[in-house]
Amino acid sequence: GSDPTLRPEPLPEDADRALRPQTLDDFIGQAEARANLRVFIQSARQRGEAMDHTLFHGPPGLGKTTLAQIVARELGVGFRMTSGPVLAKAGDLAAILTNLERHDVLFIDEIHRLNPAVEEVLYPALEDFELDLVIGEGPAARTVRIELQPFTLVGATTRLGLLTTPLRDRFGIPTRLQFYTVEELHEIVTRNAALMQAPAEEAGAMEIARRSRGTPRIAGRLLRRVVDFAVVEGDGRITQALADNALTRLGVDHLGLDGADRRYLRLIAEAYQGGPVGIETLSAALSESRDALEEVIEPFLLQQGLIQRTPRGRMLAQRGWQHLGLAAPGPTPQ
Ligand code: ADP
Repeated sequence: GSDPTLRPEPLPEDADRALRPQTLDDFIGQAEARANLRVFIQSARQRGEAMDHTLFHGPPGLGKTTLAQIVARELGVGFRMTSGPVLAKAGDLAAILTNLERHDVLFIDEIHRLNPAVEEVLYPALEDFELDLVIGEGPAARTVRIELQPFTLVGATTRLGLLTTPLRDRFGIPTRLQFYTVEELHEIVTRNAALMQAPAEEAGAMEIARRSRGTPRIAGRLLRRVVDFAVVEGDGRITQALADNALTRLGVDHLGLDGADRRYLRLIAEAYQGGPVGIETLSAALSESRDALEEVIEPFLLQQGLIQRTPRGRMLAQRGWQHLGLAAPGPTPQ
């Protein structure tokens, strides 16, 4: 039910590729993750080994895919990309693994959605760079062991908690990506505006940064829409007034929340007096999947202190009431 222009779905390839940072130096933000990756990449290069398996986790649109591509480029190796739901059978993964070249990066997006039979094949591949394939059926079945080239698996997930423990344990480099600060997003918007040859005033870029939900993918999308308004209704310049007007018309409020976020907050406030209310109840009432709530909507609301998660369910925080312009109900008499 949310506005498709505002949600962090992948952009079309061509629009996206030009703006994607290509090196660790171009990549803005995630300072800690970047500093560590720089060390691991350099060490792998100096030792002439494949870099250890790496897991990027965090909400959608924060740069997991981008970082995986950068890691491959900085290692000077090939990059192969697939995703958990695409690998239906063990053979699908085997075909990819046997085609990897020495030290390649294999990127598996949505790795929490791997089928268990595929995951079984992955374990020996990760641990010993070996593949055990079952040939034939019934009493004639036998196992053949295939040696693989050493490679680096880079996994990405929006849901760390859904990874099985044995899979999680096989990543030597688990890395959590954080929401970006307004300053970092301002840098990203300014850089992207320049790449798009769209003149952006400092305050105009800042307005977009402030309303991008801490997420570079959303910053990119909002910038494109603001450019549309600037070209058609303004003189092409991204001023603060123009950005403010465009974003308000797109339903993005001053904190960066969109209609789906506000519907979520209002439901807890108005139908449940601020909660606690269970996630399944919210999911049914909003007609949004539980996954969408947990992966896309809630992380930013939690990070902003608008809601709280308690053992008994979600609650509206004081700041959430303020944002809705409502008064929190007083303590109920016992
Ligand atoms: P994820 O894989 O986490 O969903 P992506 O790597 O696909 O996110 O990034 C989403 C979009 O945001 C891409 O267009 C990418 O170019 C842009 N992006 C992500 N991180 C940054 C960054 N640090 N600086 C500039 N652009 C970024």
